[in-house]
Amino acid sequence: MIDTTFLPPLLAAIQSEILNNEAEISALDRAIGDGDHVTNLLRGLEALTKQNDELVQLDWSAAFMKMGMTLMSTMGGASGSLLGSMFVSMGKAAKDRDMDLTAVSTIYSAGVESIKARGKADIGEKTMLDTLIPVMQSLQTDAEQNADKAAVLSNMKTAATQGMQSTKDMLATKGRASFLGERARGHIDAGARTSQLILCVIADELSKN
Ligand code: ADP
Ligand code: MG
Repeated sequence: MIDTTFLPPLLAAIQSEILNNEAEISALDRAIGDGDHVTNLLRGLEALTKQNDELVQLDWSAAFMKMGMTLMSTMGGASGSLLGSMFVSMGKAAKDRDMDLTAVSTIYSAGVESIKARGKADIGEKTMLDTLIPVMQSLQTDAEQNADKAAVLSNMKTAATQGMQSTKDMLATKGRASFLGERARGHIDAGARTSQLILCVIADELSKN
């Protein structure tokens, strides 16, 4: 069963993926936001990696909880409080659970539901939820059908990528982009893009495990 020693290499892989795409993400958030999303995210990731030594000592529940608290206090932006609350909720849902596919799906779903509640948003509003929710649905279906690992990871990547791309033609009704009305159309949401990049890295790292 995968344990929290998975976190340091995973966080490093995520950091490098975000850095490789920094200019693009920054341009996306400049187009329909205030341009700081990638900086906020990198700040949060940096704070998490500083806690690597502590995280690997914890079980998943305590590690998610700690990561959530750290993201809330360091990351900033709407995305910082949303992702922070996602991880705190995942920490609660992970209590006393082994990380099988059903648990992963349940824990991740609890995280996504907390973003929906905190941000008062749902699918179709041009936010990170347009990436996160399709992945939740994909995990739920695959857990029900007990799909094999390769299929789960590949479905996850497809759902994340299609979800991210779906934000391009949407009007925004939440977050800063909602002030732009029709002008937001034609641009992918920055948070949807970073969520997709992160979920794809997670899938790739899990496939090596
Ligand atoms: P801020 O908007 O405060 O500058 P960031 O730039 O870090 O914060 O994050 C912006 C991202 O947060 C958006 O691209 C969007 O994906 C996400 N977001 C904003 N508001 C919401 C919300 N109410 N629900 C879900 N996601 C949101
Ligand atoms: Mg911003």
